[in-house]
Amino acid sequence: MITPPAAAGTVAYRAGDSLYLNITNRCCCDCDFCIRAWADGVFGEDLRFDHEPDVEEVTRAIEVAFMDGPAKEVVFCGFGEPTLRLDVVLSVTEWLRLRRIRSRLDTNGHGQLLNPEVDVPAALAAAGLDAVTVSLNAATPEEYDRVCRPVFSKSHRAVIRFAEQCGAHGLETTLTAVDYPGADLPGVADIAAAMGAGFRARAYAPPRPRPAAEKGDR
Ligand code: SF4
Repeated sequence: MITPPAAAGTVAYRAGDSLYLNITNRCCCDCDFCIRAWADGVFGEDLRFDHEPDVEEVTRAIEVAFMDGPAKEVVFCGFGEPTLRLDVVLSVTEWLRLRRIRSRLDTNGHGQLLNPEVDVPAALAAAGLDAVTVSLNAATPEEYDRVCRPVFSKSHRAVIRFAEQCGAHGLETTLTAVDYPGADLPGVADIAAAMGAGFRARAYAPPRPRPAAEKGDR
């Protein structure tokens, strides 16, 4: 068997009881509060890739991480939007389901916009995904466009629709909003309640300079 090269940049990392997966550095938003603008990773992990990991690299990273013990769930998250690599998300979700490991997707909710040829919520449910956490961040389209700067037009409505469809397909669905200055957290919580989803505010991490040792590495 030919062993593929390991991706520079961490693919699987632990936080709390969960194992997080980093499968892309690309995103279709440019959020005001995105830590990618001023950090190379989280929890001391370098999440910047020189190439994106394939399915085999991702599942091998999970196996290696599980040698240190089980995790409560495995979460597609990382340093970019996972549904830009929907095929990898679906394949790894099926791999996890076969092993009875709980899975969750952290997403900006653009999955359907990015993959118009697929019924994405239905495909995620069919693959065995257990839960989805959708970053809505704003209660109005105007605020969403101002803060998240999406490449797609009318994406605020599309994100809400994506979350609604995930819930309709039986996925545990939670809307989140970063608690940035001026954020309308009650407004996002109301949208979540109206669709029967959960809501969670996420801490705002203000920009800070990179440590000198991390500068200019790439
Ligand atoms: S959706 Fe997430 S990864 Fe993308 S720009 Fe916003 S905070 Fe960053």
